[in-house]
Amino acid sequence: MELQTQALHAGYTKDAQGTMAVPIYQTTAYEFRDVEHAANLFALKELGNIYTRLNNPTTDVFEKRMAAMEGGIAALGTSSGMSAIFYAIANLAQAGENILCASQLYGGTVTLFGHTLKRFGIEARFFDVHNPDAIDSLVDDKTRAIFFETITNPSIDVAPIEALVAKANRYGIITVVDNTVATPVLCRPLELGVDIVVHSASKYTTGQGLAIGGIMVEAAHTAAKLTQNPRYAHFNEPDSSYHGLVYVDVGLPPFSLRARLALLRDIGAVPSPFNSWLFIQGLETLSLRMRQHSQSALEIAQFLEQHPKVKRVNYPLLPSNKNYANASRYLPKGASGLLSFEVDSFETAKRIVDKTALFSLVVNIGDSKSIITHPASTTHQQLNTQELAKAGVAAGMIRLSVGLEATQDLIDDLVQALKD
Ligand SMILES: *Cc1c(COP(=O)(O)O)cnc(C)c1O
Repeated sequence: MELQTQALHAGYTKDAQGTMAVPIYQTTAYEFRDVEHAANLFALKELGNIYTRLNNPTTDVFEKRMAAMEGGIAALGTSSGMSAIFYAIANLAQAGENILCASQLYGGTVTLFGHTLKRFGIEARFFDVHNPDAIDSLVDDKTRAIFFETITNPSIDVAPIEALVAKANRYGIITVVDNTVATPVLCRPLELGVDIVVHSASKYTTGQGLAIGGIMVEAAHTAAKLTQNPRYAHFNEPDSSYHGLVYVDVGLPPFSLRARLALLRDIGAVPSPFNSWLFIQGLETLSLRMRQHSQSALEIAQFLEQHPKVKRVNYPLLPSNKNYANASRYLPKGASGLLSFEVDSFETAKRIVDKTALFSLVVNIGDSKSIITHPASTTHQQLNTQELAKAGVAAGMIRLSVGLEATQDLIDDLVQALKD
């Protein structure tokens, strides 16, 4: 089935009411038939609903649908993109171990990896996403994950996905890829050999800036990579916190199973059923929206490239762009609504951002309304100069998240904002 069709139907079987829209199961808990039924659910002898911190029928549809769209076999919804990223790493690494991650990352991910996880004893070792060979000098027997973004936010680079996957597979390391910006409509990393995809559902998935959420998706091939792999002993040895369960032996996708049984159980950052429902609504139109976002962004990038005040434009599908080869290979349908451009200074950038009328000054992306941001003064303000340079953020850089307004109206707004 095509993704466009899965987006409307995957994961939902109508109940006796024949409800066309997926129902919102707004509930904390579920009644068991009897004590034996309850015991069977807890022992995984039978699968079913226990408590909404572990599973929920509305969230289940969101998970199954996103899994289908990403070409995966299981998914786990979370209360934010950050919690999805945290769970993906916490599911693989513990104190004394390390992860390798691309330097070009979302600001929150940089601080999570570089500061918060450090306090948990997990070391993040950064490499330039364009230099997969750097992995050879960073990897050791304590490495537990390789993390990168398909389209990086905010630097808008396109990862050399196959080269990074090949490196990871040579060392038997799980790859975790943030596919928030590309979405499965533009790129399906699991089909390129990536093991785990994570998303912020707060962006293109909801599509209208309605709710914070996240999701992780597991590939079918991930189980084999975890099995008997000395890097992932905790998937292969009995878990004393779950009566000796060995995750790879259950016959269910082990990465998602462990994330649900251990991490959701103990940390509990689950989406509300209502938010899962909003994400389901968003997915229905995702493929149409991504096509339009991408087309308008390309036209705006072409306009900006001709503008005398603009020093450089960063949109991966411009032939002048350093990511053009990767973008043509991995993003043939479009490169999303995210683009950035650079003017001469911090001050000029501030002036332009303040003058736009149709673009809203918002630290978000992926809304159907167009957004403008100045990363150096907002999302990346907490990074030091060195971290800024590594994240590919210049002082005069302006980032646009091109929405679904008429393209010419957006260009007209930029024309007036760029005037002296
Ligand atoms: C927004 C974003 C996140 C964080 O997601 P939240 O839902 O805001 O927690 C992670 N990665 C990328 C690429 C993002 O754009």
